[in-house]
Amino acid sequence: MIIAVDGPAASGKGTIAKALARHYGLPCLDTGLLYRAVGLNVLKNSGDPDREADALTACVFEDALLDDPALRNEAVGSLASRVSVHQAVRNALVQRQRDFATQLGGAILDGRDIATVIAPDANAKLFVTASVHVRAQRRFNDAASQGGHPDMDSLIADIQARDTRDMSRDHAPLRMADGADLLDTSDLTIDAAVQKAIALVDAQLEGRRIG
Ligand code: C5P
Repeated sequence: MIIAVDGPAASGKGTIAKALARHYGLPCLDTGLLYRAVGLNVLKNSGDPDREADALTACVFEDALLDDPALRNEAVGSLASRVSVHQAVRNALVQRQRDFATQLGGAILDGRDIATVIAPDANAKLFVTASVHVRAQRRFNDAASQGGHPDMDSLIADIQARDTRDMSRDHAPLRMADGADLLDTSDLTIDAAVQKAIALVDAQLEGRRIG
C-alpha cells in the first residue's frame, strides 16, 4: 500500500506523514530532504543553484548528508526549491523515490509531486495545506523556540516566494492530484489533523469518500 502526502511548505504534511507511518506501520520518506541535500550540496560545491548543470552535479551525494541538521534551515529550503525546478534534478531523484514507494509492504512518501508524478497509482492521496499566515506562524514558533529572532514579514515573503516557485515551475509543479483529499490544517491542532488524515485515508482505502 502506498500513501502519498503532498502540500506546500509548513502545511503540516511532514508531521502528518510521520503520524500516518506510525499508525499504519509503514516506512516514511520525506522527499523534500533529497532536494534539500541537493541544495546544500550545490552550496558546498560553490555551484549556482539556478544552473541546471551545477544542480545536476550536486545530485551525487553521500547518504550521510541526509542526516545533516543544516538541511532543516530555511535558507536550504529555499535552495532546494531553486534546484528542484530543473528537470535533470527531478529525473536524477525519481528512481530512488519510486524504489522506496514500491518496496514490499508499502510506504508513505511526502513531498510536492508524490501523487502526481512519483506514485500516481497510490492507494491513498492527501493534499495538506494551511493559510500562508498560519504556516509563517509555525515557522516563527519553531525558530523562536530554538532561540532565534525570526521576522514574521520575511517569513511570509519566503513562504509566498516558495509557493509561487513550486506551483509555477514547468516540471512537476505543486498541485492537488486527481483523487486526492484536501486537508486544511489552518484551524486544527496536530492531534485533530492527524485524526482527520487517518479518517480520510481509511475512507480512501475502503473506497468511500468523506472529503
Ligand atoms: O518539503 P520541503 O520544504 O522540505 O521541500 C523543500 C523544497 O524541495 C520544496 O520547496 C520543493 O521545491 C522541493 N520539493 C520538490 N518535490 C518534492 C519535495 C520537495 O520539488 N517531492
